[in-house]
Amino acid sequence: MYRKSSVIDRSCPNPECEFHGQSKKQNIIKYGYFKLKKGRRRRYLCKACKRVFCSNTSTPYYRIHHSRNLFDEVCMLSVEGVNKSSISRIKHLSWNTVSRWLERACIAAKRCNRGMLKGFTLREPQADEIRTFIKTKSQSVWIITLIEVWSRLWPSYIVGKRNYKNVRRLFQDTIVKSEMNAEPLITTDGFKPYARVIKRLFGCSCVYGQVIRTRRKDKVIRVDRKLIIGSQQRLDNALERSEDSSILARKELLLTEIDEMIKEKGEDKVLY
Ligand SMILES: [Zn+2]
Repeated sequence: MYRKSSVIDRSCPNPECEFHGQSKKQNIIKYGYFKLKKGRRRRYLCKACKRVFCSNTSTPYYRIHHSRNLFDEVCMLSVEGVNKSSISRIKHLSWNTVSRWLERACIAAKRCNRGMLKGFTLREPQADEIRTFIKTKSQSVWIITLIEVWSRLWPSYIVGKRNYKNVRRLFQDTIVKSEMNAEPLITTDGFKPYARVIKRLFGCSCVYGQVIRTRRKDKVIRVDRKLIIGSQQRLDNALERSEDSSILARKELLLTEIDEMIKEKGEDKVLY
């Protein structure tokens, strides 16, 4: 049962171990199996700290009393927009189980994002803010987000107050994760701190435009476009390169996506 061959795609989950979180260090070996109601799970041993763990340790599947496939199906249903109550009815699970699983999946997805999301090319970032209510509805909170329009990648978001500091954090976080291989085309709404932050962080190495929508009774009655950084020629060049934009525009898609995300959470209301 004690096999000496080392496993390269596993890392030690023990935070106190010298090889914690590092794979390919020759410290993990296969260490038999333990039995489940259906099937079995492999066990591993870290030769450095002698900790025994299984293939589910440090994953969202750890100690769930159902199959990993069922967990995946629940997550997929949620991604498709099915709410927790419906998932619990479809899959014959309690609402609390579904809620707990989705929370775990969310934490794992965030961890994965943090680890994997680096070095992408910043091309057409678009920042936006929305206001939503939490719990008592008397408290409101802002979600300031940034989306890469061409890939729909969501590299960064900040939850908190709508102010200069949080806008700066949003862009700093994006800059750290990305690579500036090309001149990015940045679009935002008319919220004042954007211009200050973008001038400070990007200088003249970007094209930055604001798209300001004036709404009346939930309808957009006017759209104003302002070029803040860059010449008309550079904007034309950026739009020429763009796969998604032919004019300076903010994609409504972002708002709809966030709308869906928040509606799915319950009876929260969205204000722009
Ligand atoms: Zn270890």
